[in-house]
Amino acid sequence: MGNLTLCVLCDNKNICRHLFDFNVCDDCIAGLRLFTEDTVVRLSKEFTPTQESKDYKEEIERRLKILDQEYIKKKIKLEDIRSKIE
Ligand SMILES: [Zn+2]
Repeated sequence: MGNLTLCVLCDNKNICRHLFDFNVCDDCIAGLRLFTEDTVVRLSKEFTPTQESKDYKEEIERRLKILDQEYIKKKIKLEDIRSKIE
């Protein structure tokens, strides 16, 4: 499966796959070095509970939330700068 769309990571119009709301080409997916399922299972088993997260799944949810908040902060800052440029 794949259709001709712009890859969000390299701007090339290659065959892209839809990956978690993003269109990404195969070259860029390879560059991401995504973990295998075996690796994720191992990391999950090896995870030591923390005050914030009782398990690996909760820890990943926590990291995704922080990442989203960081993205929003940076986006607001840059949009603010852009709005002040004339
Ligand atoms: Zn790409």
